[in-house]
Amino acid sequence: MDGTPSELRGLDDARDGAFPRLSDEQLAVVRRYGEECAYEAGETLFREGDPTYDFYVVVEGRVAVVDGLGTSRERLIVEHGPGSFIGEYNLLAGAAPLFSAVAREPSRVIAVSADGFRRIIDQEPTLSELILRAFLSRRVRLIDRGVGLELVGSRYSPDTRRLIEFATRNRLPYSWLDLESDPTAESLLRDFNVEPVETPVVLLGSLVLRNPSNEELARALGRPAPPARPDEVVDLVVVGAGPAGLAAAVYGASEGYTTLCVEASSVGGQAGTSTRIENYLGFPAGLSGSELATRAQLQAEKFEARIVVPCEAVALEQHDGLHCLKFAAGDDVHARAVIIATGARYRRLELERLEQFEGVGVYYAATHAEAKTCAGDVVAIVGGGNSAGQAAVFLAERTRKVYVVIRRGDLSETMSRYLVDQIERHDRIELLPHTEVRELLGDDTLEGIVVEDNRDGSRRTLDVRALFAFIGADPHTDWLEGRLELDSRGFVLTGADVSVTDAIERLPLETSRPGVFAVGDVRSGSVKRVASAVGEGSMAVRLVFDRLATAAPL
Ligand SMILES: Cc1cc2nc3c(=O)[nH]c(=O)nc-3n(C[C@H](O)[C@H](O)[C@H](O)COP(=O)(O)OP(=O)(O)OC[C@H]3O[C@@H](n4cnc5c(N)ncnc54)[C@H](O)[C@@H]3O)c2cc1C
Repeated sequence: MDGTPSELRGLDDARDGAFPRLSDEQLAVVRRYGEECAYEAGETLFREGDPTYDFYVVVEGRVAVVDGLGTSRERLIVEHGPGSFIGEYNLLAGAAPLFSAVAREPSRVIAVSADGFRRIIDQEPTLSELILRAFLSRRVRLIDRGVGLELVGSRYSPDTRRLIEFATRNRLPYSWLDLESDPTAESLLRDFNVEPVETPVVLLGSLVLRNPSNEELARALGRPAPPARPDEVVDLVVVGAGPAGLAAAVYGASEGYTTLCVEASSVGGQAGTSTRIENYLGFPAGLSGSELATRAQLQAEKFEARIVVPCEAVALEQHDGLHCLKFAAGDDVHARAVIIATGARYRRLELERLEQFEGVGVYYAATHAEAKTCAGDVVAIVGGGNSAGQAAVFLAERTRKVYVVIRRGDLSETMSRYLVDQIERHDRIELLPHTEVRELLGDDTLEGIVVEDNRDGSRRTLDVRALFAFIGADPHTDWLEGRLELDSRGFVLTGADVSVTDAIERLPLETSRPGVFAVGDVRSGSVKRVASAVGEGSMAVRLVFDRLATAAPL
């Protein structure tokens, strides 16, 4: 969004569908779901941070969408003219608006309540497609432009990093003012009476959140809390919103199951941290994990799956013939069936003082969030798999130099050929074979690493400001120990691999507990890829149906 009036926008906007203009026939359809109302010039339709807001279509006049309404930092996002509709992704998710809308001149609009809007999405396929495509494009533009939430904090603060990571991974539009280098940060803090020790702060309209937890931030933005409706029995709980969990949520909700999907950290899982997935069917030019996650989340929410993030499942029990999930925060949820899609987490390096640098120099993903904090620096990546290769290629475009540190002599056995070629050709990537990291240097921030040649034990120091570890993964199953049968490495056993001897034959993907399924990377023996995770997540819903039809005891 560049602030140009929508009707003056060029071909690009028309092509990517961010600002379509509704025809008279389409306006007539919208009218059936809402009511027309008038606004004087300067009147506000909604403000950033409002608990709810309507879907508006401009019939006459002009409505501006602005960031920071009424403050010295007020910025125009876009102006909508006749036929143009106002809103973005948050409207579908039922979350608070991140912007305000103000009539620029006497205007007439059709206002559609949240329920009416939901009915348009359900019942009007042509309009629904137009609106959802626009919402996707608008969200991408808002993120690129760095508007929305304002985050003020020091680049050296782990909490600043945590909030940046949460916002980035959950695709919340935001801007970050670094207290260390941005001269406007301190004056902004003074405007809001915030002391530097109270940072990081998140600002949205009149809302000031002092060092909020991720949960506090999500709830302040109106995202649902766990469980969304206490005492309700849901048909299906999906634990984890990586590709496998999102696929299960889309299929579950579209089959008519009441579906709750809980996610501990960020929608998209490991795939969400991939900068370019080049082997996913149907995307010859590749797509970023973030784009895949945004599309899948929108699709799941379109079918009314409830996605709760952050929400960590900590126990799985059985009560009164139902599965009972307990969460780190919030009440229990009872479900008729459960799909476990909790994936895996990257292994940590065995290094002294590792914890001290995690999030402020040592990272387990290379996305725009990390790239922002080490732009222009020299960085090192440990690992020789595809995820390390993708990270190297991505970071080489954003940093001064990338070392790739591997134990083996070359990458041929561990990385796909196309990535090896890209690494070999890139003049800012240097491969360090037969090398292992031995020491982290620095006090508050990472100032270097000591590496050792594992053939002769010789050591040298690399002046890197960030270290990325991609050295294999362990399953997220600590919370399931003693509850489900796991293999020797902690992955969940399913189907014929389950050794429990009872009268119930396990369905494929079904765990030792009938009615509980495991899909994707967390499942023992699964292929650790996006496509297979999506396939298993989709397939599991059909198996849930089969299990519920047999009414086997839990
Ligand atoms: C950097 C990188 C690049 C990759 N590139 C490719 C590629 O190009 N092509 C390809 O096919 N594959 C790629 N992969 C592998 C692919 O991303 C994984 O195979 C895929 O994401 C697995 O999906 P999943 O849903 O099973 O698990 P995950 O993606 O791991 O998702 C699991 C989710 O569950 C959540 N969770 C965990 N525990 C809990 C709990 N107790 N409660 C609630 N939520 C919980 C996690 O936070 C996570 O979001 C890549 C992986 C990485 C890390």
